[in-house]
Amino acid sequence: MTTDWRSLDEQYIVSTYKRLPIAIAKGEGNYLYDTDGRAYLDLFTGLAVNVLGHSHPRIVQALREQGERFLHISNVFLNPPAIRLAQRLIDNTIPGKVFFSNSGAEATEAAIKLIHKWTKAEGAGRTGIAVLRNSFHGRTLGAVRLTRQPHVYQDFPQPDFPVYELDAEDAEQLRAVCRSEKPAALLMEPVLGSGGVVPLSEAYLREAEAICREEGVLFAMDEIQTGMGRTGRLFAYQHAGVTPDLILFAKGVGGGLPLGGVIAGQRLMNLFKPGDHGTTFAPSPLSAALGNAVLDELLDPAFRAHVSDVIGYLWGRLEELRQRLPEQLQALRGKGMMVGIPLHATPEEAARLQQNLLAEGILVDVTQKTIVRLLPPLTLTRADVDRFVDVFARQLTALGTGKEV
Ligand SMILES: *Cc1c(COP(=O)(O)O)cnc(C)c1O
Repeated sequence: MTTDWRSLDEQYIVSTYKRLPIAIAKGEGNYLYDTDGRAYLDLFTGLAVNVLGHSHPRIVQALREQGERFLHISNVFLNPPAIRLAQRLIDNTIPGKVFFSNSGAEATEAAIKLIHKWTKAEGAGRTGIAVLRNSFHGRTLGAVRLTRQPHVYQDFPQPDFPVYELDAEDAEQLRAVCRSEKPAALLMEPVLGSGGVVPLSEAYLREAEAICREEGVLFAMDEIQTGMGRTGRLFAYQHAGVTPDLILFAKGVGGGLPLGGVIAGQRLMNLFKPGDHGTTFAPSPLSAALGNAVLDELLDPAFRAHVSDVIGYLWGRLEELRQRLPEQLQALRGKGMMVGIPLHATPEEAARLQQNLLAEGILVDVTQKTIVRLLPPLTLTRADVDRFVDVFARQLTALGTGKEV
């Protein structure tokens, strides 16, 4: 008798996620294997966490080495793997210091508290945070206040610090809100992730930065999903040549283990004093050791060349597909290894397409009901791209002539 994982899950685990009906037995490279031994090309990567795929040799080696030394020590000791990771994050982003958390939502919480500290210290009457409509910044109560997707926040209490909701790409509105409402900070995802994979234009990012500088507003980037090489640069803001005051990170940074945090630029880095903020677990020395292994690979010139080659190839093949199947594909958007493909389909058809791809051994995400979201590992190969595009094209054609949503 095989174990019925699906019924046990329904019986014992709170149902906060819709699950795909496969139980995972192992992962290797760009593939996941279920308990029946079927292989799936993983274009979901644990929601942008497994940037190097599964069981990457560098990560497995770091896991063994650090696992044999120590797993947890607490923040009362110096933590060499974490210090090294912080130094490398700073060397590759902005001058400043790192605060580590366990997750993305906690990175957002740290950012909220740090912004409030700044408001108190030198904010000159500024308070609150401006964010974008449809943004996602996490699900804890503070973070959910900044997440402007009604289905995420509507049933829960809203902490009462001021939040201003802006439309992406509207610089004049941003300027007007900075003047009339005097927010302390602007926080944005360079590519809105769960909001539908919507990249902000480089021109808008540069203009937003300039407005923040003119108006004395902190310029903060939520790179929790876009960071760690996901868009083809270490962090996505780097494409636009802007300089944030604050960078939020998580997801890929712990190599598959929980780790997040904020990079606080020079204006913010010394505001927290002992006792102001903290957490027992973070930075886990094991997560930090894995983070260092991820950076070893991401910063390797040969690996960077591979990533830019395969990103170019992926977008070339997807663009071909968009031109060939305009009845099924509404658009193609995103950046690097973060792709959103809005379909001309009903939510039921999109769900069926996802199931059909799964039956053919390909794992994709669907967000905002009818947008296929790809978050492939950076280790993706041209052969993986071909396999996906061929199966996807066949399944899209089978989807029918395409109805408007
Ligand atoms: C996933 C995500 C978060 C929340 O991270 P968790 O680790 O799930 O708490 C916040 N912001 C963005 C942009 C994300 O993609």
